[in-house]
Amino acid sequence: MKDLPIAIVGAGTAGLASAILLARQGWPVTLYERVADLQPVGAGILLQPSGLAALRHIGLLDECTTLGAPVSRLFGTSACAQRVILDTRYAHWQADSFGLGIHRGVLMTALLSAARAAGVTIRTGIAISRFVQAPGHVRLLTDDGRGNESVLGEHSALILADGTRSQLRAQMQVRQTVKAYPWGALWSIVPTPEGADSTDLRQWYRGCSQMFGIMPTGVTHDQRQTKLSSLFWSLPVASHGAWQQAGLEAWKDSVRKLAGEPAEAFLQAIETPEQLMLASYADVRMQQWHDGRVLAIGDCAHAMSPQLGQGANMALVDAVALADALGACRQAQSADPAACFAAYGAVRGAHLRYYRQASRLLTPLFQSHSAWLAVLRDSALFVARHLPMGRQHAVTTLVGARTGWLLSGKGAAPLHAWRKLPVEPALEATSV
Ligand SMILES: Cc1cc2nc3c(=O)[nH]c(=O)nc-3n(C[C@H](O)[C@H](O)[C@H](O)COP(=O)(O)OP(=O)(O)OC[C@H]3O[C@@H](n4cnc5c(N)ncnc54)[C@H](O)[C@@H]3O)c2cc1C
Repeated sequence: MKDLPIAIVGAGTAGLASAILLARQGWPVTLYERVADLQPVGAGILLQPSGLAALRHIGLLDECTTLGAPVSRLFGTSACAQRVILDTRYAHWQADSFGLGIHRGVLMTALLSAARAAGVTIRTGIAISRFVQAPGHVRLLTDDGRGNESVLGEHSALILADGTRSQLRAQMQVRQTVKAYPWGALWSIVPTPEGADSTDLRQWYRGCSQMFGIMPTGVTHDQRQTKLSSLFWSLPVASHGAWQQAGLEAWKDSVRKLAGEPAEAFLQAIETPEQLMLASYADVRMQQWHDGRVLAIGDCAHAMSPQLGQGANMALVDAVALADALGACRQAQSADPAACFAAYGAVRGAHLRYYRQASRLLTPLFQSHSAWLAVLRDSALFVARHLPMGRQHAVTTLVGARTGWLLSGKGAAPLHAWRKLPVEPALEATSV
């Protein structure tokens, strides 16, 4: 694996974070991204202590915590705050821990400049259409959309970090399923109204069929004066057309009836329906993540619904685990990428399995038309709030620490990133 570059496809969270760590270990790394001009765009995301520990390992924790907004708890109520349904506090895990609401563009900007500084060769505007494995190398191909293919050269290994809708994953000789969720979410990022600053990620629910959320999202590199918040609204993907036809005022009325007065100032920032973007998601399952010299990571390997707020965190932990596995191979002077990738898979298995299962189970409890699932959810969350064991399970799930339904510490090898590197206290005052 020494001489040829490692190819990474996709300059998202997983691809950039892996590229940085591998380049710093001395591997030649070429990163291919289909988007020509990488812009700091995307939704607000919640980084968990697991992802923050990985960022600290990469050396970007300070930059991200300076710009992001600390989140001390997830707080959800029924319509107009009549009944508390969800109240999970980071302090119940570790006194000084927190989540970080951050604009995806901020994370991308930080990762991109670190990748450039680490010497990663970044080739944008190139969509990889196919790969061919041969003894000793992997060849990448791109086509011009008219059927003319060009070969991009030989690489010692290929990391697929091309997201949920990867066109390349299916070329791996690995059993896999991709199942789209029927529900998605409308999201927008707006300036935080005067006096509405909070460290709560706030949600309101009506049964499982309506959910409105507000998440503090911090500032961006370019606009450090303007504090931002992310708004989320659950919606069946198939109802998006009907939502557009009903008009913006009809939607605002629904939000007012659900969330009441606290939502009002945020709603004023939404003037056109185009400010609300529809995100759809899918569940990706693979029997294993590698096939010879090719490895899938991030959403390409294990996309899940964002209900648990784990996808970007998993992508960051993947990058740290991958760098550890390849670093160990380098030390052992192993020339067999498949063995290194198998070692990576063994380390990531339990952690990813738990979060995939949990997000699949949880999603219909927040996004469906079922009345009995709402009762089940509210009862389970009542236990999670009032019994120490339930509270512990909820908070260890939230922070990204679990590796099984019964375990939260044992077998936490994938989290060696944070066992070695505990998250430092950075949240001075919380509203808990
Ligand atoms: C509404 C919403 C809210 C979310 N909230 C959270 C949250 O709070 N917390 C959290 O942790 N996660 C959250 N997520 C999930 C998180 O955004 C993803 O899990 C994460 O971005 C995955 O990163 P990735 O690098 O694997 O993939 P991506 O970010 O999708 O990156 C894939 C990259 O590959 C490129 N690419 C694709 N195909 C090719 C090709 N053939 N050739 C070259 N390049 C290619 C794409 O252009 C893209 O840049 C949320 C997701 C959504 C939709």
